[in-house]
Amino acid sequence: MNQTKKETVIIGAGITGLTTAYYLNKKKDHSFIVLEKSDHIGGVIRTGRERGFLYEEGPNTGVIGTPEIASLFEEIQDNCRVLEANKNVSKRHILKNKQWHSLPSGPLKGLTTPLFSLKDKFGILGEPFRKPGSNPDESLAELVVRRMGKSFLDYAIDPFILGVYAGDPAYLITKYAFPKLYNLEQNYGSFIGGAIKKNFEKKQEHDKKVTRKVFSTEDGLGGLTNTLYKLAGNKHFALECKDINITPNDHTGFRITFKQKNTTHVVVAKNVITTVPAYELNNILNFDEKDLLEKVSKVRYGPVIQAAIGFRKWQGRSLDAFGGLIPSRENLPILGILFMSSLFRNRAPLGGALLSVFLGGIRNPDVLEKSDAEIIAIIKEMLPSLLKTESFNPDLIKIMRYKNAIPQYGLDSKDRFYATEKLSECYPGLHIGGNLRDGIGMADRVKQGKYLADSVNSKKNIHEKQSF
Ligand SMILES: Cc1cc2nc3c(=O)[nH]c(=O)nc-3n(C[C@H](O)[C@H](O)[C@H](O)COP(=O)(O)OP(=O)(O)OC[C@H]3O[C@@H](n4cnc5c(N)ncnc54)[C@H](O)[C@@H]3O)c2cc1C
Repeated sequence: MNQTKKETVIIGAGITGLTTAYYLNKKKDHSFIVLEKSDHIGGVIRTGRERGFLYEEGPNTGVIGTPEIASLFEEIQDNCRVLEANKNVSKRHILKNKQWHSLPSGPLKGLTTPLFSLKDKFGILGEPFRKPGSNPDESLAELVVRRMGKSFLDYAIDPFILGVYAGDPAYLITKYAFPKLYNLEQNYGSFIGGAIKKNFEKKQEHDKKVTRKVFSTEDGLGGLTNTLYKLAGNKHFALECKDINITPNDHTGFRITFKQKNTTHVVVAKNVITTVPAYELNNILNFDEKDLLEKVSKVRYGPVIQAAIGFRKWQGRSLDAFGGLIPSRENLPILGILFMSSLFRNRAPLGGALLSVFLGGIRNPDVLEKSDAEIIAIIKEMLPSLLKTESFNPDLIKIMRYKNAIPQYGLDSKDRFYATEKLSECYPGLHIGGNLRDGIGMADRVKQGKYLADSVNSKKNIHEKQSF
């Protein structure tokens, strides 16, 4: 049995754990190790290359939505070439009655689009004058209908939520899933008024970095995680760690045992940072507080099937857009399609196209039961009419399955966030991170990863205090 001592143990080498490791490695005197269950780093972020296509297996694009991710990109620019998405293809199409329509980008287009009802188009003029909501547990669907109308819910918010959360706006609670939106209404009384006022407010220097531009890297998103792995120091990582078991240890913080290639290892550490999915926590945290652990571990996840479909020679409609989203009301098995080769260079051979097609979501979990052949049959039946291709003969088909893709920030989030704080209070040095809290997007993951590193360096509690 091997026994070592570290200041910090990080569990999980997805983008959150990698960011924490990167920042800990910058503090040259902080000893740490990252324990990862699988045989690769990156978590759900993986990029594949085949036959001239560069495709994503997990997330496809990120948004520069926090100052932390912008700063990280500045720091690693010599090692990782970040790409901004092609500005000329920013249109998002929404399917209504079998026709694609662009999501309006301004008030004038908003008045002429067939996506929204006449009543809602004129009703939106009254949005700044509507009273703010008083129910902190209001779902996103309720909030949108109250402030903007049902057709905005059906043909703007619902497809957006399918694209981001693979979720249902009636399940997500605004305060937890979209805290900035919730605060906009609470602090400014309205979305429109709040957005205008915020535009005129003086921004702090680091907030100016939040461009909200869409990014990937020259090597796909795997290029980002590989860079973090390299800069965090490969020697700090142990892959294929099985049966990780964390127990409190009165004098030293925590005792962590795990198996790697039939050898049992023991690490004694002052701090433990978990970045694993919620449902893994019960397996690794061997604590007495079963009630709190249950609250932290139980989260509903949106399932996703993602298919990378590549064509060496594209002969369908022009792919001069970000992609297309299909609202639930259209009742089709496909959630949306991203035109990856239009967004970033080198995704497909010249003249070809690479698409990412999404199926499943919280309302269609049964799709996950289908075989690859059945999934391909669905795509084959739908894509030609959606993208006006006469035939469907792709040169690349990759099907990726995520039973637990995205955690849904529903009503139970309040208890979950409370329980993570409570467990950290019971066990100083324990930090429960990962996308079960603080946001699901990569920008939020990087922000949390940096805060986790800062917190074990400064021994402060990382999370901005939340009111429960
Ligand atoms: C299909 C899909 C599409 C997405 N699309 C987007 C998008 O377009 N844009 C965007 O910003 N975000 C997107 N997301 C969300 C975003 O990618 C994730 O929230 C983020 O990558 C999660 O990073 P993480 O490090 O917190 O967790 P993970 O990536 O889940 O990493 C956790 C790591 O912990 C390891 N682990 C698990 N259990 C154990 C254990 N017991 N012991 C040790 N290690 C363990 C796992 O193997 C994994 O490596 C998408 C997610 C999915 C699944």
